[in-house]
Order: sequence, then C-alpha cells, then structure tokens
Amino acid sequence: MILIEQLLFFILGAMIGSFCNVVIYRWPREESFVSPRSKCTTCKAPIPAYYNIPILGWLILRGKANCCGDKISFRYPFVEALTGFCFLLTYIYFGLSFQTFEICLFFSMAIPCFFIDLEHYLLPDIYTYPGIVFGIVGSFYSQTRTPLDSISGVLLGGGLLWFTAWAYEKARKMEGMGLGDVKLLAWLGALVGVSGLPFIIFISCLMGTAVGVFLMIVFKKGRLTAIPFGPFLISAALVYIFIPEAQTLFLRMFFPF
Ligand SMILES: [Zn+2]
Repeated sequence: MILIEQLLFFILGAMIGSFCNVVIYRWPREESFVSPRSKCTTCKAPIPAYYNIPILGWLILRGKANCCGDKISFRYPFVEALTGFCFLLTYIYFGLSFQTFEICLFFSMAIPCFFIDLEHYLLPDIYTYPGIVFGIVGSFYSQTRTPLDSISGVLLGGGLLWFTAWAYEKARKMEGMGLGDVKLLAWLGALVGVSGLPFIIFISCLMGTAVGVFLMIVFKKGRLTAIPFGPFLISAALVYIFIPEAQTLFLRMFFPF
C-alpha cells in the first residue's frame, strides 16, 4: 500500500511539474496559463495530448518535436521529475499530514519561482503574495509554528531584507537586491516562522557566495555580476525544513549559550 501511495505522490508531483513548465515558459512572456492549448514553441503546431504526459512524453519523442523536429528543452522532463521527487520525498518524510500538504503546495509555487528567477531575475508576485497568505493561514493548523511565529516571520523577513536592499542602494547608488527577494523572504518567514530566518539568511548567503566565487573562477565573470538570490533562499528554506539537524548545529555554532 505504501508503495502505491509513494507512486501516487510522485505522479501527482510530475503532473504539477508539467503545469510549472507552462508557468515558467508563459509567465515571462505575459501569456495566459490556461489558454491556448499547448503548442510547439517553434512552428506553433498543436501538441497531441499524449505527448504532454509528464517525463514520458519527452522520452518517447527523444527530446525532439514531432511536428518540426526542433529540440525540446531538457528543462521540461527535468522540472517534471524534480517536482515528482520533491512530492515523493515530502511524503516519505512527513507522511499523510498537514505538513506534507503545506510543503507540496510550497514546492508547486517555489519551483516556478526558482526557474523564472534563475533565467529572468524576477520573482512573480502571483506566487509571493499568495505564499505569504498561505503561510499565515497554515500556521493556524500547523504543529510546528504558531500564528505569532508566522506573522513575526513575515515582518522580520520582509523588513530585514528591505532594509538591507535600501542600505545597499544608498551606499552603492545601485540596486543590488530586488524587492522580489524581500517578498520571498517574507513568504519563507510565514512558512517556517521567525526562528528559522537567521538560518535561512546565513545558509543562502553562504551558498550564494560559493556559487558566485565559482562563477568568477570558471567563467572569469566580474566581481559585481548579479546572480539571482531567490534560488538560494528557496534552497536554504528546504535545508531548514528537511534537515532540522542543520539548524541545531547552526544554533550551537553561533549561539553557544
Ligand atoms: Zn514544431
């Protein structure tokens, strides 16, 4: 039985991943998510429904569009498989619980944000604002945080990063951090509560610096090359949710009293 449930979670995730792909492609182009039906992005021929089956469709076509033979981005099956695995992992960790529902909902919204920010340096308001609301509403049902935790998380997350962005802009006379990051951190504050924020900020800065240095060395990019910060914030929040030991270690390192 458990195996069937795991399989169902994976399939549900892959199907939602398929919708994430639609958003990742259409949101930056300001196209509707529901209509028209999916078309080949090259020759505009309609795509038959069975080729839209998550992961399998891409495999059957071997990554080439049936209509014009154009290459289909590997991002499609990747996002579908990724969302499927995220749902599966959540079920394995948290079982059939409110937490699982909440985290799967988070993945459904954060995965499009992750890829859109990576490519376009933007975090859509259509996800960040509802994310803040869901986080606060969820705190009334959550076993891991109180509504007060969530609301303080929103205020601290939003306020702190907004202040940093403002100070950076004043000091450098340029925009270093987008307001999208502020809204995302407020969302994460609502989701994990205020006590998780120091960890998330620290880990995301650490990952951001590591990747920044790596890009500088490998691609010889300049020092001030902007890299999107949203993916690091989202990844750090996931470390916080799935590896609670990391938070314990972090607290022992910096607050050893
Ligand atoms: Zn085509």
